[in-house]
Formats: sequence, structure tokens, C-alpha cells
Amino acid sequence: MVSYVSANLVYPVATPPIKNGVIALKNDGTIERVLTAEEAKAQAIEHIQHYDGILVPGFVNTHCHLELSHLVGQIPQHTGLIGFIKKILALRQQPEAEIISAMQKADAQMYANGIVAVGDISNELVSKQVKQNSQIYYHTFVELFGFNKPAAPIIAKGLQLKKDFYPLKASLAPHAPYSVASSLLTAISIHTQSDDILTIHNQETVAENEFFEKGTGAFVDFLGAVNLLFDEPILNQTAIHHALPKLPKKVNTLLVHNTFTSAADIAFATKTHPKLFWCLCPNANLYIENNLPANHLLQHENINLTLGTDSLASNHQLCILSEIQTLQAERNVSFEQALTWATLNGAKFLGIDAQFGSFEAGKKPGIIWLKTEDQGNKGLKTSIKRLF
Ligand SMILES: [Zn+2]
Repeated sequence: MVSYVSANLVYPVATPPIKNGVIALKNDGTIERVLTAEEAKAQAIEHIQHYDGILVPGFVNTHCHLELSHLVGQIPQHTGLIGFIKKILALRQQPEAEIISAMQKADAQMYANGIVAVGDISNELVSKQVKQNSQIYYHTFVELFGFNKPAAPIIAKGLQLKKDFYPLKASLAPHAPYSVASSLLTAISIHTQSDDILTIHNQETVAENEFFEKGTGAFVDFLGAVNLLFDEPILNQTAIHHALPKLPKKVNTLLVHNTFTSAADIAFATKTHPKLFWCLCPNANLYIENNLPANHLLQHENINLTLGTDSLASNHQLCILSEIQTLQAERNVSFEQALTWATLNGAKFLGIDAQFGSFEAGKKPGIIWLKTEDQGNKGLKTSIKRLF
């Protein structure tokens, strides 16, 4: 049986928004077709359920750390990245039952916020059960870091963890330029299969660039103090020059944060790697560094942007709509543009765009109803409801 839903504005994403558009869908939520109001009228379609507001496909969150969900509200804002990492190291070990319960709540929160797919960073197996029981699609990134230690045991442990996550999709991922030595980057590249995808945190703080450009700054103090400083030559170039050339070029690769990525860095990166995606986590950037990526990244015409929430350790909520609203308010990005980043681009990065990311025939992307109401002196409030 086919049913019909409509709203004041329907955003198929792959094509322009349709005023009073109509979505024809099967019982299981698969899109049969998308019609204009005129087409629906000409075809005398009846029993159209109309929603006051807009309909968008399910959101794709390309960067999360479910494992850190129990740290909600634990770390103060604006510590800077190094202060934040120190807090994570001090606070992350908690009883497993507490960690699992927090992850279940976080997963339910993402579902309620219209998120249908997540790229999730994991250091352990603890999130597997939550992901397996979830209605959300998860791709797990088994995160690796290593300084001057030999790469082989780190890779072996990572490959085992990847196997342990089976049947969930998982692949290896280096943590960040300042925490992964050249030998480990090369080893990750060797062990990346053609159907894997990869992600790395990139240029989240200004000290990351100084570390590679001059061999000085806060990372030298921090890593030196814990005896983890790796023996890499000073590059006289920004952090992106350390990791990117050593990563495999055959797989989709997501650079996350990019808060201190210059226009020259973008030019270098796009020339170096043909399958790059760039993830913005604006609310986490404001939480940790009180900063946002520059307009040359947001307004670049030839790069694929995606959105991520990061974890509840650095965000007040796991909500992609809230990330969109921050970009609208702080960076003047249009809703339509950010919606493409939040849906279709994320699905393309995760390799799941045959099902997710847009209202197109044959897809089952989730249908999210957004309704904005004026709450007087409290301003506008948008509610999120899942129709499928
Ligand atoms: Zn992260």
C-alpha cells in the first residue's frame, strides 16, 4: 500500500525544495516517488496527510564519540583543546554500566532528533551492544594513536577490534596529526581495504599547526610532559601536511573540525587527496575552543562538507538540526545549503547514499517533520518529529 505525506515545503535535497510537495511512500518507509502539488492534483491523489512545516530526509551525523556520552556536563566550556583532552583522560574511566546507560540515552536522543546514520569513533568495544540494538545505522571508526612505539602491535589491536565489531561496519582511523607518527599512518594506509572509509581529526586548535610549523607551543609542553612527543621532523608547514599525504587515496576520507584550516591548506588538501570530505562540528568548536571554521571553508565551492555533533563531552546535545541552526546564526549559512551537508553529503561519505540522504525513489531515508513556532519573547523553537 502506498500512502502520501505533504508539508508546506518538502526538501528532497538532491533537487530544489517543493512547495506543498507530496511524497508517495510504501508501508516500510521506502520512497515511491516525489510529486509537486500540481502533479498530485492532476493525478487526483486522495488521502494526503498534510503537515504544517517542512519535511526533510533523516540527518546523518558523521562525527560522534558515543563512548564519551557519560561525560555530559562534566567538562567546562572554553578550556581549549589541550585542557579538554586532559579532562577526558582524567574522567573517561567510569563503571561500565554507567557508560552503557549513558550511551543508550545518547542513542535514543539522536533517534528522537531525526538522526538516521552516525559515523562513530570508538577506542573500545563497549558501544557494540548499543549500536546493534539501535534503529540508527552506525559505522564505527576504530581509532588508533601512537607516537614512537612500533606500529605493528597498535595495528594488530585495531584490526582485532574491527573484527570484534562485526557484523557492524567498522574501519581503522588515525586520531589526529599530533598523535599519530608517520610509521603508524603508513601502516593504517596499508591495512585500509578498498571498501573501508577513513576519518581523522584535523586542525582543531591553533597549537596543532604550531607543533608542525615550528616544533613549539602547547602540544610540545603537553606531550613532552607525558613523554609522548614523537620524533618527527619539523615540517615548517601546517598540521594537514603531516597526515594527509600518508593516508590512502582510494577511500572516502573525512577531515573533522578544520577550525584552523587556511585557504592554502584546502588547496593543498584537495590537490593531494581526491576523495576528501570535510566535517564541521560547530557546537563542539564553540564549546571547546570558542571558535568556528572560517568562511573560506564554509563557502568553498568545490569541497564536500558534512556535519557532526562530536560527543556529549563537548556538546550540550546530539542534534544535527542544532548544528545547522548555529551555522545559520553565526555564519549566515542558508538552511538549504546546510541541509545538504547534514543529509546527502554525510550519506555519500559513509557510502550509504543508496538508502539515505535524500527523498528519491527507492530510498528509505527517514522522513523528518520540522515545525517552527514563535514563542514570543523566547524566540523561535523548532520541534523535530520522525514520521518514518
Ligand atoms: Zn572527535
